[in-house]
Amino acid sequence: MLFGRNQKNPIKMADKGAVKWTYSTCGYCSTGCSIEIGTNAEGKLVTSRGVGGADVNRGKLCLKGIFEYEVFEATGRGKTPLLRDNILDPFQISAWDPALDKMASEIKRIQATYGRDSFAIVSTGQIFTEEFYTLGKLVRGVIGTNNYDGNTTLCMASAVSGYKRSFGSDGPPGCYGDFEHTNCLIAWGSNLPEQHPIIYWRLKEAQEKRKFPLIVVDPRVTIFAQNADIHLPITPGTDVVLQNALIHVILDEGLEDRDYINVNTNGFDELAQEVRNYDPCTAAKICGIDEDTIRTVARLYAKADRAMSIWTMGINQSTHGSDGVVGINNLNLITGNIGKPGGTSLSITGQCNAMGTREWSSCSGLPGYRLLEKPEDREEIAKFWGIDPEFFPKQRGLTETDIFPAIETGEIKGLWLVATNPMTSMANTARIRKTLEKLECLVVQDSYVDVETTQYAHIFLPGAIWAEKQGVFTNTERRVNLTRQVRPPYANSKSDMQIFSELAKRFEQGQKISFPEQAEQVFEEMKALSKGRLCDISGMSHDLIEQKRGIQWPYTEVQAAQGADGDQRLYTRPLTFRFKDGKARLIPLPFINNNEVPDEQYPFWLNSGRLVEHWHTRTKTGKIGNNNKFSPIPFMEMNPDAAEELAIRHQSYVRIVSRRGDAIVMVMLTQRVPRNMVFIPFHFFDCVNRLTLGLLDPHSRQPAFKQSAIRIEPVDQLLAAQLNKESREY
Ligand code: SF4
Repeated sequence: MLFGRNQKNPIKMADKGAVKWTYSTCGYCSTGCSIEIGTNAEGKLVTSRGVGGADVNRGKLCLKGIFEYEVFEATGRGKTPLLRDNILDPFQISAWDPALDKMASEIKRIQATYGRDSFAIVSTGQIFTEEFYTLGKLVRGVIGTNNYDGNTTLCMASAVSGYKRSFGSDGPPGCYGDFEHTNCLIAWGSNLPEQHPIIYWRLKEAQEKRKFPLIVVDPRVTIFAQNADIHLPITPGTDVVLQNALIHVILDEGLEDRDYINVNTNGFDELAQEVRNYDPCTAAKICGIDEDTIRTVARLYAKADRAMSIWTMGINQSTHGSDGVVGINNLNLITGNIGKPGGTSLSITGQCNAMGTREWSSCSGLPGYRLLEKPEDREEIAKFWGIDPEFFPKQRGLTETDIFPAIETGEIKGLWLVATNPMTSMANTARIRKTLEKLECLVVQDSYVDVETTQYAHIFLPGAIWAEKQGVFTNTERRVNLTRQVRPPYANSKSDMQIFSELAKRFEQGQKISFPEQAEQVFEEMKALSKGRLCDISGMSHDLIEQKRGIQWPYTEVQAAQGADGDQRLYTRPLTFRFKDGKARLIPLPFINNNEVPDEQYPFWLNSGRLVEHWHTRTKTGKIGNNNKFSPIPFMEMNPDAAEELAIRHQSYVRIVSRRGDAIVMVMLTQRVPRNMVFIPFHFFDCVNRLTLGLLDPHSRQPAFKQSAIRIEPVDQLLAAQLNKESREY
């Protein structure tokens, strides 16, 4: 007899008549689901399905992956290059050669007039690793500007910074398989069921089998929090205080792993000294979690033997983002929970290839986690590319969040954006708009011409999307996975790699460096440069990656010869951290509250985050009916008790005001948010980021998107409804 789920009729997917399936990796989030794209007998792409033999998703996909085959023909695709001299003029259609000639001459003019670093470049976490490597070669080896970054500064910079400060290198040490071994899991600032549904499914399956305690730290009662054993509704921006208090209890009660600390870490005494200031009673007053709960969680975690922490933007997007990551690492190091199955720090990455840009784009250094600051790294890459090492800057330039202020001050005059949309994604929209208007030359390279930032561009270059080309992504758990080309680039668009290579030929230095045309040739270069590095991929090939449905790095030639898998975890042996002595660093974290906090004038916290059906600035999901129909317009979660005090009704419109600007938004009453907080999804143009302050973390330069103060005002409902209708039509 069948019981429970098995009794129900299995879901039958409609037969779309696919006769051919092409292997790919999902191009949305960093979960890294293996996905096949179905082509029918007429050659039309008609469906997507999860790959059963893939370890990551085991046949499953979320809503975004299921309808991903629709991105190719969705409205708003860029068909051909566009040019104009003045942003008030209409665009003129252009062929590729004149467009790239114009772009090269503008870069040269600006650099000759104002200096090499006056032209800045900001890329993405969405293109293939081979494309990132090629862009890095173009920027570092040919154009030579040092003001080059990725939009990953808006999402993962704090994780990178925290890993480097604690372990000596970037690189998440854990994997999804850790869910199957852990005895306690804390999720910090992550709404996994909406942000990474397939990772959540892996976690939930493991938890249902083994019943380990799941603790969710989040100011909102998210779906994840609703499914937790313990929910800690923390005061925004105070995670470091809670972390220090947990460590205080663990040390106070002698629950730390002394052997692990003695062998593998430096800095214990300084950390112990600092956390003395954070007894649970004092900490409770700052972070809002009562002292008994702090003690309970500390004991659960320290006594679990195998305990792990995961986190996403609730930690990273804060003025204490980097410290929050270090705090998680401190907690895991003192309990001996790094490098063992079920004991780890695992940042859940955002974009599908945010990891690939960290490893290979040269944004923050040189390929393969090499540093501009290290002469031997500069020498090695210069020799490999055949250029003079003196061409490289000797330290990293500005991050994305510092590039925009440098445009305001006139230090930067030209900007090239690759697959990123700052008009919607960056804090303080009004300021970003004014900044973009100041540029002498703005190039927008994107698969969709209707991204909001194109309004301010002088040159638009249409890029091919996802499986219109071939290449690899690296996911959250360091797994490199492949996308095969399923169709040619849309209309007159080109792959990003081809655009980079063709632009390089227009520069003198670009004649000296080789730019291979095929993704597999580029991958061979990366393999050669990876040998002996932490992110060693020398044993991989595109074919082997497809065969294994993704391979985790490090994966050496020896592992390949033995037919082994990639390493599941980093730092599994003593003294293998990436500092000279092999030890990790325990770092004291004094807490100074520098957030914008609610006050009499602006009495509510403004929190922002993601919805399951949308991806980032809706460039893709806003065009796909089966995604967009679930959330076609922005809304604001508000606590019913707070709403009653202000006489605000469910589904009425309100005006929200911050010190930066205002926005009209529909109210959704829910107990998910506390009385002094509202939550607005960040996907929508001219909405939440009109209000956000975006103070920067001092280490990572990542903005605090989740901690701003606002007030709420009534509005004329008819006028607001009209505005809403217009935004829906958009
Ligand atoms: Fe794609 Fe992420 Fe959904 Fe998997 S969980 S299908 S990678 S969006």
